[in-house]
Amino acid sequence: MTIERFRKEVADRGLSDVEASEWRGSIRLEGQVASWSDYVELGRLAVKIGTRGVVNDLEVSGPEGCDLAHEDPLAAMGHLEEGGELEGLSFDVAIVGGGVIGSAVARELSKWSISTILLEKEEDVATHASGRNDGMIHDGFAAKPGSLKAAYNVRGNRLWEPLAADLGIEFARPGSLILFHAPAAKALYPVLASRASENGVDGWELWSRSRVLAEEPKVTSDQHGGFFLPSAGCLSPYKATVALAESALANGVRISLDTIVTGLETEDSRLRRVRTNRGSFAVKALVNAAGIWADVVAGMANDRFFSLHPRRGVDMILDRASGALQRHIMAMPSLLQGREVTKGGGLVKTIEGNILVGPTAREAPGREDYSTSQAELRELDRHFRLNRALSPSMLITYFAGVRACTWEEDFIVGPSASVLNLVHAAGIQSPGLASAPAIAHDVAASVLAILERTMKVSPNSRFVAKRRPVPELARLPLEERAAWIGRDKAYARIVCRCEEVSEGEIRAALRPRPAASLPPSVVGPASPEGGAFTEARLHASSLDAVKRRTRAGMGRCHGGFCTPRVMETIAEELGLPLTAITKKGPGSQLVAGETKAPAAIHLAAILPAAIPPSAERAAEEE
Ligand SMILES: Cc1cc2nc3c(=O)[nH]c(=O)nc-3n(C[C@H](O)[C@H](O)[C@H](O)COP(=O)(O)OP(=O)(O)OC[C@H]3O[C@@H](n4cnc5c(N)ncnc54)[C@H](O)[C@@H]3O)c2cc1C
Repeated sequence: MTIERFRKEVADRGLSDVEASEWRGSIRLEGQVASWSDYVELGRLAVKIGTRGVVNDLEVSGPEGCDLAHEDPLAAMGHLEEGGELEGLSFDVAIVGGGVIGSAVARELSKWSISTILLEKEEDVATHASGRNDGMIHDGFAAKPGSLKAAYNVRGNRLWEPLAADLGIEFARPGSLILFHAPAAKALYPVLASRASENGVDGWELWSRSRVLAEEPKVTSDQHGGFFLPSAGCLSPYKATVALAESALANGVRISLDTIVTGLETEDSRLRRVRTNRGSFAVKALVNAAGIWADVVAGMANDRFFSLHPRRGVDMILDRASGALQRHIMAMPSLLQGREVTKGGGLVKTIEGNILVGPTAREAPGREDYSTSQAELRELDRHFRLNRALSPSMLITYFAGVRACTWEEDFIVGPSASVLNLVHAAGIQSPGLASAPAIAHDVAASVLAILERTMKVSPNSRFVAKRRPVPELARLPLEERAAWIGRDKAYARIVCRCEEVSEGEIRAALRPRPAASLPPSVVGPASPEGGAFTEARLHASSLDAVKRRTRAGMGRCHGGFCTPRVMETIAEELGLPLTAITKKGPGSQLVAGETKAPAAIHLAAILPAAIPPSAERAAEEE
């Protein structure tokens, strides 16, 4: 499609306030549309012009009003501490974003003798897409052949298994079963096999109706065989991100949490300085791994040749017992879904055994809008019928995540075409988790190529690949549990009854707390298999951070029982008052103050909003 043809199509739709122009090799849309669906439709249509990228700067007026182009991550942060810790420093590399991509890049760069800093605006890593996804290490079948998504997915799938072993996190390959919804669907097998082959997927099988039934006894009777992809895997996405960041930290990367990048200073097509709420500092190279804000960060560097639009996904989490009722990841896409941008969701068995029902895929304006609606939840109901043993009564809770999508629906990975020392890892929507190790490998290679123009880079001789995780007693054999308890009685005190998490595990997740500038010497004694391992812990201080590391609060009661105990443990371990403990960083304190004697603070002051002011006064008077 030519730009003239695009303009004509826009005019035919009666959208008079839309301008389309060529801009840095991309197409830029400006003006106003009356609805979010017009915004999305025009973004997609503009892709057909075939330029380098689509920059959709249209403002949506009316009740759905939004102006994504002028949003600012700083304004989106309710609370932000100021500090001068980084003022005047200098680093070889800065990474913007502590999701799975930024954390994987940080670990990859820690293999080299360079100074690297990772900047994350939140109080922990994995708080956005990387902590809000299905944890599936996709096989690579679903990605469009020839896309970066397909290539990175297949490479990443192969890299995750050994990487997870090094990081000390669980990884499994339950395989993914795409069920046929009609007898005729079997005829598609050659097409499916040819796509899997084109994408380089590691193995696929045609399963008959009886084979499916033998493998999945609770499967719907409406199935007509299936296409099985044995390489599909799963892991805990938030544990993986924390593990990558902690491994990077132990190997010398500085990690600065609660640190937002507010501006980038360029000179002669080079980034010179990074401005943050903690001061500004010099860099030789910068990695843009800012998730849904990556187009804004690209704009700070004057390199905004693409724009991102949020696509929300909602998942239901079923009780852990549901995992015993299903062996594989299962989905039954309809043929009509072929042209959709999503794989359509299904039943994903997680590494911990819970089943996730979802995710949905809905274009919605909020970059960090994690609300869920009844309509979205209803959309998920259809997946229940795939497994006769599952029922909505197994639902513990639901969550939403936001995918960072380019209009071209592909990743952007590699050096900037106009800024000499900038590398993008942007538009990393699904399967970004599965692709992370491969993306990190290539991004690190681009960074090294940039650095080598001005300095000599040698391998970090002190790099230690293996990391010792916090023990998970509930998943250990009884003798091993007893050994941990023998060493420390805190492992015998169960704090989270649903997930069987002990006080010892929570304390271990919070310590040691190495200073951010600690050299790569946090190396423990030899592991049983021989060789050294690291056990640095990223500073964690919120309830959610503890949850990400230990799963305390993730069970059926969802923290109803353990929240006060976890808070007390954090307070003791970090030497903080209870009033300083937050759910997820500044502004989310759980306790407002004492209501009567200090001893009564534990329960009475939690959720103060739930206590009517008169009751509060009465408590004070008592
Ligand atoms: C519902 C759902 C299900 C999914 N399921 C899967 C799946 O099963 N398998 C799979 O492979 N993929 C899946 N994905 C996709 C996957 O979650 C993402 O591809 C991946 O997490 C992207 O990681 P990221 O590091 O790029 O982004 P993020 O995790 O969003 O990290 C970016 C970070 O940058 C920080 N940041 C932004 N701006 C600034 C700034 N100015 N200064 C400092 N920090 C900044 C943010 O706070 C954020 O923490 C799913 C996504 C969703 C939403």
